This record gives sequence, structure tokens and C-alpha cells, in this order.
Amino acid sequence: MTELHFTLTEADRLPEAERETILANPGFGNHFTDHMVSITWTQEEGWHDAAVLPYGPIPMDPASSVLHYGQEIFEGLKAYRREDGSIVAFRPEENGRRLNASARRLALPELPVDLFVEGVRQLVTIDAEWVPSGEDQTLYLRPFMIADESFLGVRAAQRARFLVIASPAGAYFTGGVKPVSIWLSRDLARAGRGGTGAAKCGGNYASSLLPTRIAAEHGCAQVLFCDSATEDTIDELGGMNLFLVQAGADGAPRALLTPRINGNILDGITRKSLIRLAEDRGLAVEERDITVTEWREGVADGSIVEAFACGTAAVITPIRRLLGEDGLSIDFGEENSPGELTMSLREELTGIQYGVREDRHGWLSVM
Ligand code: PMP
Repeated sequence: MTELHFTLTEADRLPEAERETILANPGFGNHFTDHMVSITWTQEEGWHDAAVLPYGPIPMDPASSVLHYGQEIFEGLKAYRREDGSIVAFRPEENGRRLNASARRLALPELPVDLFVEGVRQLVTIDAEWVPSGEDQTLYLRPFMIADESFLGVRAAQRARFLVIASPAGAYFTGGVKPVSIWLSRDLARAGRGGTGAAKCGGNYASSLLPTRIAAEHGCAQVLFCDSATEDTIDELGGMNLFLVQAGADGAPRALLTPRINGNILDGITRKSLIRLAEDRGLAVEERDITVTEWREGVADGSIVEAFACGTAAVITPIRRLLGEDGLSIDFGEENSPGELTMSLREELTGIQYGVREDRHGWLSVM
């Protein structure tokens, strides 16, 4: 364990009645808990000044490097309240490892994974009453790291800050899981070979906002990016990984297909977990290049029977249609969506997260 003592400055807590009103209908990303965690890094001292502080604005010099060159990375994970009242996080050490992979690409300092998990635990523990207990509700945790040296030269900052904030989140789907339409973005990319696509850095999301708006103008919930070099090989959605379900000769699901970790896409923890659960069921999993052409032809000949997106926020979102320029439309049709395997994997993974199913892979960390 990395030795770093967290000092505590108690916040004025939001009155219970107001907190309960928020928790009854939290939405997503609107409300924040009473505290936050902060750890400072400097080139000379390394990580120091670990603190649990009242949630609030952070003083920042206008010359701070993050404001000019976007040297920033983040993570997203959830804490769940189980039926017995205990609180767990789902694979937090995976988020800690991924933060460090992002840190390397963005020339930010790596944070020891045990310190990452301890920071998350400190916040969840002090703000435990903010972890909702309603169906499909969670406390969303947002660890992030910013470069905050006051210097305008373009080089890796010599001062950084790691913070964790938390926000109660309501059920992603209210009134049942609804299949969505997604929009294929061919002209606008979020990543290219050798770029930052595999890192969870703010810039990737900034570049996805315009294509996401275009997707919304076409009635689509999310944008699907493809490899900017081929324009036909699928990468991922703006904030989720993608899976197709392939049927065997008997029409029953035989394999999950998902784009391989190719340097352009995020190594999703939901993706990784679903691959494991599918393999446990004896399904084949193919991590490889997948093209829009293969998707279109597979739906037409009945070999591709389901599609879904996955990520921490929505766990699994069934995909009904892929739309795009030049009249592209691949549609599973009302009766085939949401797919049976899609929904059963969703039920299994959420069951593990909320402690209703056995955690046979040891994915839960008690907070
Ligand atoms: N791809 C992108 C671009 C994302 O932002 C996310 C959400 N973190 C994912 C995939 C899914 O990752 P995870 O399952 O770890 O949430």
C-alpha cells in the first residue's frame, strides 16, 4: 500500500431532506456529493497532499496548462448499494490501471493503483449516504487528473492534480430498456492511427460533440466512429464499445463479435467483463476488425442477429438501427430488438453489480 495519509476537512453537509429529494430523482451528472478527494503531484515531490475536502470550486491560475493544451484525463465508475446496505464498486482497480495508460499517453504522472482505489474509497465512505438505494440507481464516481502548472510553454506540465468527485445517478432507462438508433460518422473522426483514441482524455470527447450533435439531428442517440483510414472498419461509439451477435447455422447465438483493441478505441471495462461472461457461457468471442459491410450483409442473410453498445453509464444499450449518409440503414426490426442474448447478458452483469448474483470473478470491491 502506498503510504499517503488523507487529511479530512469536513463539509457542511446538505440537509437530509434536500439530499433525499435529489436521490428520489437524481438524473445524471446534475448533483454532487458533499466532499471531493484531491491529491497533488509535482515533479520534485511526487504525489503528496492527499485530502478529503468540501466539494467546491478549485482555484486555478488562468495560465494553467490544462486550460490551454487540454492535458487532462478522466475515469468513470460506479458504487452500488446492495440489498444488505453495503456499498461496492465494480472493478475499481481496472479504472486505476486504465487511468495510468491514459496518463502515459498524455504525459501525465502515473498514480499508484492502490492510491487511486483508496481515493475512491475515502470519498464513497464519507459520502456514503449519497449512494442511492433505488432500483438501477448508483453513485457515479468521476476520478480525473489535470495538469495545473502556470506556464504557457508547450511541454508536459511539472505539476498536476488528481481529484475524485461523485454524483448520484438514476436509472439510465426509465420505463424499460429501449433499443436505440445510432449514426455512423464517416467524415468526422474522434481518433486516428497513433492518436489518443485509446486514452480517456477530454479532447477525445470534445471532438465527438459535433458528430454527436449531427447524430441527434438524424434522430440517433449515439454516434458510431469508424477507422478514419478505412471508413468501413468500425471502432466504437462516442462513449461506448460495440458488440454484434452472430448466429450459427441453427439460428442460435454462437459468437460475440467486437472490434479488437486496436489503439484507437477505449479498452472498456464493461466490454472486458462481458467477454468473460460470454466465454463462461460457452460462446465464442471474436475480437477483430469488423466492417459496416459485414454488419449489413450479416443482417441481410440472418447471420448477425443482435447488436448492442456497452459502457459503465448504461451497462448495455440494445441497438436497433445503424443509420448514415447515402441512405445507409441497417435495421433489426421491431420484433428482433432488444435481442434475447443482449438482455440476458445485461441482466447477468447488473445482477453481479448489485449483489443479486454471485460475484464469481471477484469483481466487486467493498467500499
Ligand atoms: N468507449 C468510450 C469512448 C467511452 O467513453 C466509454 C466509457 N468509459 C467506453 C467505451 C466504455 O468503457 P467502460 O465500459 O469502461 O465504461
